[in-house]
Amino acid sequence: MKEKYDAIVVGASFAGLVFSCKLAEQGFRVLVIEKEPAQRVGCDYLVEDALFRIPGFEFTSDLRNYSGAPQLIMISPDMRTQISISELPMGMINARELSETLFDRAKSSGVEVRMGCSAFGVEIENGFVVGVKTSQGNFPSRIAVCASGAERVLCRDIPIGMGIPRQVGLNDRMTIYREVRNVSSFGGSVDELKDGVLEYYVGRYGGFCWVFRRGSESIDIGVATHAALGNSNPREIARGFIRSNPIVGDRILFSGGGSIPTRRPLNTMVGSGFMALGDSACHANPIFAKGIAGAMLGASIASDAAALALETGDVGVEGLWSYNYEYMRQRGSTMVDLDALRIFLHAIGEEDFSWLMAKGLLGEEELAKALSGRTVFSGDSAGVRGRLKALGNFPLARRYSRALRFAQRAQELYGQYPSSYYPPEFSEWSQEADFLFANIRKVLST
Ligand SMILES: Cc1cc2nc3c(=O)[nH]c(=O)nc-3n(C[C@H](O)[C@H](O)[C@H](O)COP(=O)(O)OP(=O)(O)OC[C@H]3O[C@@H](n4cnc5c(N)ncnc54)[C@H](O)[C@@H]3O)c2cc1C
Repeated sequence: MKEKYDAIVVGASFAGLVFSCKLAEQGFRVLVIEKEPAQRVGCDYLVEDALFRIPGFEFTSDLRNYSGAPQLIMISPDMRTQISISELPMGMINARELSETLFDRAKSSGVEVRMGCSAFGVEIENGFVVGVKTSQGNFPSRIAVCASGAERVLCRDIPIGMGIPRQVGLNDRMTIYREVRNVSSFGGSVDELKDGVLEYYVGRYGGFCWVFRRGSESIDIGVATHAALGNSNPREIARGFIRSNPIVGDRILFSGGGSIPTRRPLNTMVGSGFMALGDSACHANPIFAKGIAGAMLGASIASDAAALALETGDVGVEGLWSYNYEYMRQRGSTMVDLDALRIFLHAIGEEDFSWLMAKGLLGEEELAKALSGRTVFSGDSAGVRGRLKALGNFPLARRYSRALRFAQRAQELYGQYPSSYYPPEFSEWSQEADFLFANIRKVLST
């Protein structure tokens, strides 16, 4: 029989590697399983500054290719309002460099990595997850960790009674496509796309689009659509833009896409012998789908909880619970606020979204906070509501009031997240959270 690993982590990306490094550095035996045969190819990502405050990973702001946030302009869905963001607590990081740094650290910490190995499920014994099933055989674990991104491969195989949802509904996902191309030398005026300015077209297709030209080197184009709205494929939308902009060249320097869960974090991210991290646990920013900082922060909190559970020999739900509690305290309730705002913005649609921007009610401060993963909605006791009334937009004022009440209740509820696992208490908390979020869409649609 194979020797048991303290932890088997599925997914060698941001969440999986941070978790594995921290745990192995404390002397635990960790195996990482990654289905891709090689590390990811690189591209620049805009990340929240929370990334640079993760204990033990502050080095990220010293990476060679790190640069602060670019100049950014937010453009309303009807394209009539432009808001320049002057200060953005974010930065650009190169995904290949970050990934290489994390891989090197994992290797030097003694993490075993199996590339080209696909996980497809969990082994269960007496109500505990005790191993991971993979294309290279089954491996026994004390804790199995799902860090497989939006695929959520282990979560999909967890018994329903453990409280980890198998699916993330279409209403709670975004589909993103991104292409980086060369700048064409015979394609018209280069000034059509301002150099070094990241243009964000917010509220489009229930998501957003962006264009970012870096000198004569490259043009970065992205489209994120709300998966449930019946939008065209984001790749087709991006290609339509490329065809109509002759300065975008023919050479594709990078392309990629995927689906990102963009909802509040899972009610529980632990089961007996099991943890979920990163996109698998819905850690990305609900409005802008920025998920790298959340994935790494969540993984760091999770690995502290796992180390304690392994030391004390309790890898059941009680033993792992501090991960849920700490994550909700440090980041979860902010993500809940942004999820409430997301649901409100989807309900009102592009026209009212544009109107709010035109009137300054969705202004620089709110947009910068939403993009950088900070609380926006529930802090507004009467400001926007009062201004909506003063402007005579009573239907929108009514919907805003309902959404605000909901956001404030959701915040309160997440502030009362159980600090330890007592099943009747958690079950009550969980039912109320699900009820609140199931109802809000209905309430806002009228
Ligand atoms: C086009 C695009 C642009 C984005 N831009 C940004 C941005 O600018 N800033 C930002 O913060 N976020 C951005 N995101 C979101 C960000 O990429 C994710 O939120 C983040 O990567 C989540 O990290 P993770 O470690 O949870 O999962 P992932 O990075 O998705 O990693 C999951 C890993 O698990 C592996 N895996 C999956 N299934 C299996 C299996 N069955 N067996 C073994 N291994 C498996 C995958 O190969 C992968 O390596 C973007 C996403 C997309 C699609």
